[in-house]
This record gives sequence, C-alpha cells and structure tokens, in this order.
Amino acid sequence: MRILIAEDDAASRLIIETVVRQLGHAVLPTKSGDEAWEAFQKADFDVVISDRSMPGMDGLELCRLVRSRSEVNKYTYFIFVTSSGDRRRVLDANEAGADDYLVKPLDADQLATRLVVAERITRLHGRLAAQQTQLELLNGQLFQQARTDSLTGLYNRLKLREDLDRLVVAAESLTGPYCALMIDIDHFKSYNDANGHLAGDKVLASVASVLRQGLRQGDHGYRFGGEEFLLVLESTSLEEGCEAAELCRTAIEDLKLPHASGANSVVTISVGVAQWRQGNESVNSWLKQADIALYHAKSLGRNRVYPPAPA
Ligand code: GH3
Ligand code: MG
Ligand code: MG
Ligand code: MG
Repeated sequence: MRILIAEDDAASRLIIETVVRQLGHAVLPTKSGDEAWEAFQKADFDVVISDRSMPGMDGLELCRLVRSRSEVNKYTYFIFVTSSGDRRRVLDANEAGADDYLVKPLDADQLATRLVVAERITRLHGRLAAQQTQLELLNGQLFQQARTDSLTGLYNRLKLREDLDRLVVAAESLTGPYCALMIDIDHFKSYNDANGHLAGDKVLASVASVLRQGLRQGDHGYRFGGEEFLLVLESTSLEEGCEAAELCRTAIEDLKLPHASGANSVVTISVGVAQWRQGNESVNSWLKQADIALYHAKSLGRNRVYPPAPA
C-alpha cells in the first residue's frame, strides 16, 4: 500500500515510518497536517496515519479534507494517532471520517495489525469500485441497446418517443422548423416472397445504411416499422426536406438491388414529407401528416417523394 504519515513528533514519526517500511509498504512521512494535505492532493494514498494534535492544520481537519476528496472509486483508510484515547476524542475522530485509531506510546505490533485491516478494507473498496464501473458501463450499453434496432442499427420507436417528447419541451429554443421524412420500401412483401426473409433483412440493412449516411449533425434516423423508416431533420424547411427526400430516393435506386417486381426492376422507396414548427400542431399529427404524404407517394405510383421536390 501507499501510506502517508502526518506526525509532528520526530520520534513517533520514525517509529511509524520504520514499522510501515518493514511491512513492505511505500511511505511518505510529513511533519504537519498542511504538508500532508499538500502531498495527498498530488498523489494517491491507500492509508493516512495522522497524529491528532499538530500545529497548523490538525489531524481532524486533515481527516475531513481527505474525506471530502475521497472519490467513489478510491477510498483512503484513515488512522488517527492520539495521546489520549478517551471516548469523546475517538468519537470526534470517527465523526470526522476516521476508520481507526492508535494510542501513544505506539506499539509496533498494534500498528501492523491495523494495517492488515486497512489493506483488507481498501482492497474491498477497490473491488466494489471496479464492479461499480463495470455496472455503469453495462448499464450504458443496455441503455443504447434498448433504443437501437438490432437489424439496421437505427434508433427504434422507444428512442423516437423520447426524442419527440424532448423536442416538444425544447421547442421554445428551437431555431427553425423540423422535417419528417416517412420512408417505405416499395413492394417489399413481394421481395421477401421471391428472395426469402434473410435476403429481405439484408435489403433493410443496406437501405438503412444509405439513409444514415445522409444524416447531418442534429438529424436522427429511426426504424419506424417493418420496412418503414423515419428521418427527422433539424432546421429544415418543407422544400429542403423534399430535396433531402429526393436525394434519399435516388441513392436507394442507385444501389440497384435487383427486385423483379420493383420499379425498373430494382428496390425503391416512397417518401412522405411533412414540416413541424412549434405551436403549429402536436408531434403526433405531424407524423400523421408525413404518413398521409407517404400514402400519396404510394398511390401516385411509388418510387417518388410527396410533396414532390421543386424541379
Ligand atoms: P408497398 O409497396 O405498398 O409498401 O407494399 P409492401 O409489400 O412493401 O408493404 P406491405 O405492408 O404489404 O409489406 C411489408 C413487408 O415487410 C411484409 C413483411 O414481411 C416485411 N417485413 C417487415 N419487417 C421485416 C423484417 O424485419 N425483415 C424482413 N425480411 N421483412 C420484413
Ligand atoms: Mg502532535
Ligand atoms: Mg409499409
Ligand atoms: Mg412497403
């Protein structure tokens, strides 16, 4: 362990230092509370052994400071050395955050015993901290997984609901309108029927990948349903949204994924576009509007954007 000593009395300091060294620990002896506190802030220590009465910063104050700095993932064991072991003073020390105390004159065996306990406790704290870090990591991964569609890597409906709720709350500070692009793969059922579900899955992943590549900072892509995707574009007018939708449509067509019953014998998409501005309408009716636009794109012949992008 790395052990910091704060002791103004030279003889006591030497005894502590000698015992600690004999036990194989690394030690830094300091002559005052102030000196110890300075050292503590510069390096990691597992244990502080501190005299209680010292000129300047005393042991109690040092203990409080050490405790105020103790982070969740690093516990420092604090042992007081005191000349009077009466109960009141021990209680004070415990309240300040001390773990243990020793009474002068110092007994080397007692100090050695205390350090065995200190080592066990700090090791336990270390293990707990490592587990805590691991749990936080896993928790973060689960949080992401719960909001991600596993096939396409796009966000899912849960994330969409959360993002829409946030959008409504933040609406006051929004700079411009938002555009929703509701995207549906044309004749996808017949693609599955002709090529099998696994091949269909690959198409879904390829389409999603192309859609994701077109997103700017602040835009979000979601898998809305089976073969339906939703893009929410930030600070985008209806006209700009339709242009972006047209780029998506051509990008998917250009993939040239063979589809016997598709337009031009390749996989294509239809896109419905709707704009949302704070105060205009609810986010639900916004998405409904995008869905209606998609319906128009479908009924006008598929492989198109509705409203059409300006020429
Ligand atoms: P339209 O041109 O009108 O959009 O017709 P469509 O056949 O694309 O639409 P429909 O709603 O009739 O069929 C959607 C198909 O999407 C049916 C379903 O099997 C398929 N699908 C939904 N989710 C998945 C999936 O995760 N993987 C695969 N391979 N297919 C899926
Ligand atoms: Mg002293
Ligand atoms: Mg559909
Ligand atoms: Mg479809």
